[in-house]
Amino acid sequence: MDDLIIDSHVHVYPPLAKMLDTPLEYLPWGKTELTDLMLMGHEGVQEVKSKLKPLLFPGLNKVHQLTEKARLLPERLVPIADKLQGITGIYGVLLEGQIEDLQQQMETNSISYSVVIAHPPITSNEYVLQLSQKYHNIIPVVNVPKCSRAVDKLQHYIEMGAKALKIHAASDGLDAFDQHYLDLLEVANEHKLPVIIHTGCLYIKPLYRAPHMGHAEHFESWFKNYPDTNFILAHMNIHYPQVAIDLCREYANLYTDVSWQPASSIAHAVNTLGAERIMFGTDWPIVGNNMQVGLERIQQLVDKKAIMQEDARQVKALTAADVFSIDIV
Ligand SMILES: [Zn+2]
Repeated sequence: MDDLIIDSHVHVYPPLAKMLDTPLEYLPWGKTELTDLMLMGHEGVQEVKSKLKPLLFPGLNKVHQLTEKARLLPERLVPIADKLQGITGIYGVLLEGQIEDLQQQMETNSISYSVVIAHPPITSNEYVLQLSQKYHNIIPVVNVPKCSRAVDKLQHYIEMGAKALKIHAASDGLDAFDQHYLDLLEVANEHKLPVIIHTGCLYIKPLYRAPHMGHAEHFESWFKNYPDTNFILAHMNIHYPQVAIDLCREYANLYTDVSWQPASSIAHAVNTLGAERIMFGTDWPIVGNNMQVGLERIQQLVDKKAIMQEDARQVKALTAADVFSIDIV
């Protein structure tokens, strides 16, 4: 238990052949041959990537340092920094991003479990649930797009083993009072399913259809109306972590993860809220080498005595193990 590490915020991208699984059926030259060919190509790409990674990681570590500093810019320049951040983030996805990369990075960084979050249509809920059946160290989280059968779908995913619901209003372009979210919250509440909310306003249209819906304060009515549901403010509201910390202080059912936060904000959050409200998370593979960078930030804080060793242990694993009810084996 002592050296257990859980990354509470991870994305995985299926190989192209899998992403295109359904449309391929309609192609005249047949699905199997083309899929096989693409999967062979995938293996080749994986091999090239593993050679490139050690060469490119030092540069990506610098990008992490830059993204931490975006918030110090004058307000009018932040959207430009966000766009650059969006572009540089893609390198990590190209360089890592697939399940083989994730397993390798988890092993290298001694991470026992990763909470893998779906993002349809790119990463489908079914794909994430399949991964969790194949790998015991993958904790699946679903994200249900607006549709007439959303409630049934969420119920089905819970039966299939989903451990949390993700809501990304900035990406969906919906507001917090949209009936779709209210319906999903009812189901989550009934099943005691934790809800991860994307927080952090990033001006990266068209990827985020409503960037301002990243602001954590938009969801306050949810925290009030569902006191028995645990909510995780993902990324600690990015540029404005104090807003996330203040909300966590006000509502006992709130937690936050440390992805996209510099060491100073992590220390402030731990010392203000207590480590049992904070969880390690990296948003791997966006940017690249996130797991090592994230763990180093926490270690630095322990070395400088800015947080205690027990707090680091709590943040690195115990908070997430508790909130997501992870059966440690
Ligand atoms: Zn994410």
